[in-house]
Amino acid sequence: MLKGIATSSGIAIGKVYKLEQPIIQISESVKEPSKEIEDLENALNKTIADIEQIKQRASSSLKEEELAIFDAHLMMAQDPEFKDQIIAMINDGSNAQLATKTVSDNMISMFESMEDTYFKERAADIKDVSFRLLCNLLGLTIPDLTTINEEVVIVAEEMTPSDTAQLNKKYALGFVTEIGGKTSHAAIMAVALGLPAVVGCTGVMKACKHGDTIILDAKEGIVIVNPDDKQLEEYSQKKEAFLKEKEALQVLLHQPSITLDGHQVELVANIGSPKDMDNVIENGAEGVGLYRTEFLYMESVDSFPSEQAQFEAYKVVLEKAEGQRVVVRTLDIGGDKKLPYFEFDPEMNPFLGYRAIRLCLDRKDIFKTQVRALLKASTYGKLAIMFPMIATIDEFKSAKQFVLDTKEELIKEGVKVSDEIEIGMMVEIPASAALADEFAKYADFFSIGTNDLIQYSMAADRMSEKVAYLYQPLNPAILRLIKMTIDGAHSKGKWCGMCGEMAGDPKAAPVLLGLGLDEFSMSASRILPTRKIITSLNKKDMEDLANKALKCDNEQEVIDLVNSVLKD
Ligand code: PEP
Ligand code: MG
Repeated sequence: MLKGIATSSGIAIGKVYKLEQPIIQISESVKEPSKEIEDLENALNKTIADIEQIKQRASSSLKEEELAIFDAHLMMAQDPEFKDQIIAMINDGSNAQLATKTVSDNMISMFESMEDTYFKERAADIKDVSFRLLCNLLGLTIPDLTTINEEVVIVAEEMTPSDTAQLNKKYALGFVTEIGGKTSHAAIMAVALGLPAVVGCTGVMKACKHGDTIILDAKEGIVIVNPDDKQLEEYSQKKEAFLKEKEALQVLLHQPSITLDGHQVELVANIGSPKDMDNVIENGAEGVGLYRTEFLYMESVDSFPSEQAQFEAYKVVLEKAEGQRVVVRTLDIGGDKKLPYFEFDPEMNPFLGYRAIRLCLDRKDIFKTQVRALLKASTYGKLAIMFPMIATIDEFKSAKQFVLDTKEELIKEGVKVSDEIEIGMMVEIPASAALADEFAKYADFFSIGTNDLIQYSMAADRMSEKVAYLYQPLNPAILRLIKMTIDGAHSKGKWCGMCGEMAGDPKAAPVLLGLGLDEFSMSASRILPTRKIITSLNKKDMEDLANKALKCDNEQEVIDLVNSVLKD
């Protein structure tokens, strides 16, 4: 039995799909040049066929412009100059593998050093195609998550956000990774997809092979490779019980989220894409509290998403919300969220570096496209815009002014823009929590991003499993920062929400309710369990509980307090 970090709920039992990228090791042996050229031609033909096949498979889910990436790859694989350069090296005595690697590496560094972003982006295409070609020369297989066509549990060293985005819920029963913490984006995506997942499970890659049977319990963080009959029976029963409990929650689907003494809060959902909206509605959310737009940028393969593409995505979400509020967060890129077509300068601490609103205020060209798309979509529903990673009042004012100026610009162009857009901010940096009452003069609302707020307050990297013990949402220090933020908002008549993972944590709900949180935004799958808790509590009692919690010495004392009010 292996232990990892529990991320979500649910149990998965199935066959292991081990996600392993092949390691390229160039052979030293050299055959006759004619034989090497034959190997090269066979590998090139297979590479072309592979790309065509991937394009074909992707054509049902990707749009025309997104499929263009495969045409670029095909052109590269069929480029006579690329092939001629490799053949020239083979004729000079190299084997096909070394010649391919050398020619590709030279081309990659040449394109990477160019000023023009179009050519810079081509370097990524060459990397992709040459990796595939080398794998074919070496007889190695590249795993492709989109080809999975049977039910599996994915076991990987790490799942990047784009790996998670490729998962087909029909076949992916869940996943386990060696690396990652509770609030790594892979974990958050798993919760959003309603997939059981265990992260930071050291040793899991070694412990299993493709095709083994695996059990994962995402609530307890337990992973069992090749279970015996008794364990299979036990977990099959647990899975059954979990599904039954989920079914029983359905009675709360259209109920308001009101405490026993009549205090109402909003339970809304976090989404990463318009596709998530069906899930939001099915789970009885009262709107969207966080739309992480960076996924739109991460899913785009070779360029920033256009104004039109963004407009369409925002319009779908607003329309599907049917008049309920949709809080859209502007681009939060950087940290662990990278883009294939945008190069970040290396930094010692990317989580503390050039990211989110810092990048947007510096690269107004990138920011402009998103803000225009958002404002254009604003007439299709109830839009609220929020900026991530705000540290100073000046940053907030600049970002807000930029939105207002862009609105003017659009109106001059004859575009209709809603007059009721709320403009707020995430509170995820301790400095902004400390100054919340001042920020509240300018912001229409706050949404507390506890994933980062805890990371920055405890100085504990949210990606590191070694310091995961410091992810302590109920630590009184964190509760005091939350209180400061909520009180700050209320002092100026503004509302305060929370969209970090803590908002959907059953142990946090009583305290957050007592502290006066107005809006709880979480993965759709957490809405009904949280509504069950809220509707069973008394707000006045929770205020007393929160006051006691604020005076505790440590997190465990707060957990003990909470356990005394939560029945199960
Ligand atoms: C947070 O930091 O709590 C948050 C919601 O943002 P993200 O997890 O996307 O950084
Ligand atoms: Mg954050």
